[in-house]
Amino acid sequence: MSLIVQKYGGTSVGTVERIQAVAEKVAKSHRLGYQLVVAVSAMSGETNRLIGMAKEIDAEPCLREMDVLVSTGEQVTIALLCMALKNQGIEARSYTGGQVRILTDNAHGKARIREIDGHRIEADLSAGRVVVVAGFQGSDEDGNITTLGRGGSDTTAVALAAALKADECQIYTDVDGVYTTDPRVVSRAQRLDKITFDEMLEMASQGSKILQIRSVEFAGKYNVPLRVMSSFEEGPGTLISLEDDDQMERAVVSGIAFNRDEAKLTIRGIPDQPGVAYKVLGAISAANIEIDVIVQNVAKDNSATITFTVHRNDLNQAEKLLNQIAKDLGAQEVDADDRIAKVSIVGVGMRSHAGVAATMFEALAEEGINIQLITTSEIKITVVIEERYLELAVRALHSGFDLDAPDAEQA
Ligand code: ASP
Ligand code: MG
Repeated sequence: MSLIVQKYGGTSVGTVERIQAVAEKVAKSHRLGYQLVVAVSAMSGETNRLIGMAKEIDAEPCLREMDVLVSTGEQVTIALLCMALKNQGIEARSYTGGQVRILTDNAHGKARIREIDGHRIEADLSAGRVVVVAGFQGSDEDGNITTLGRGGSDTTAVALAAALKADECQIYTDVDGVYTTDPRVVSRAQRLDKITFDEMLEMASQGSKILQIRSVEFAGKYNVPLRVMSSFEEGPGTLISLEDDDQMERAVVSGIAFNRDEAKLTIRGIPDQPGVAYKVLGAISAANIEIDVIVQNVAKDNSATITFTVHRNDLNQAEKLLNQIAKDLGAQEVDADDRIAKVSIVGVGMRSHAGVAATMFEALAEEGINIQLITTSEIKITVVIEERYLELAVRALHSGFDLDAPDAEQA
């Protein structure tokens, strides 16, 4: 008998009626003969509401108590869903993360799952019950409640699927799958039938917010086939899995990802000596500022220029640090720019095709878009451009790589 883990996000369980609709969906799968474990989020808006109350009391509330508080959102949903399932004639049992022993480390607010003891769940499944587990939460070795970071219910679902060796992990959400790019930017964006873990990871870390990044890492590591599908419409969704062999069928580029969350810093005229990159970037990292794209170049006069990007929220702090470093190293100047955007083309097909970068640069050149930085990985090419050209760039690349929906071509 196949075992499926289903996860329903906040919007899917946002009202009592919606919880009842989820119960109908779960009941339908159960009647088809599947064994089912269901992980749920808090009702939409609930986690934010709880955080808001805490902040009214203390701007920086104690992290342990924060986890006790925010984990209640999911506890509400599991109980209501089990009641709704009972109405459907389905025997179901709800469990908090701690009860099914989702053992995590003790990093409150961003805990990592160490181990899941599947015995209790397996016993229920064998008895024909549906098991409903609260997403987003676990408990540490001492029994303290922990949470896995915002969006963490995705990770709960994938971790349960991995621990129970489920045949598939289905993530039900308010979109019907993963798209070639954001349909709000490109109306001709298309739903992908399938995508690999690596591609999804690149898409997610480049700004596509459908799944928590950690859940995709987890799914890839344990090879759990993930399917993103809509709670509100029927459809096959998008299957995220390991790369298969039919290279022939594969598009060179699967999707275009972008984000506007970054800012660019440049330090010029650094005397080029061993260790300067370390001095510059080491100091930024030491301040816990995450660095993304990095480019270094050395001019004829032996002075180095280093450019890198950070999250926009970190720009001010990073700029201050960089000015200090420039003084210490005797560098000429520091430049900060927050009107940038990052656009990436992503596709495992790139590995076996030449000329992908040229096609990308040509599409941007045709629109007169200047490229400020370029970085590549095996399955991704990223450019940093001026923010105001972002949408134009995404549309140009989407059609440049033949990703536009076919009906649009006829128009
Ligand atoms: N309720 C949590 C959040 O809003 C976890 C989740 O929904 O995945 O982030
Ligand atoms: Mg979510």
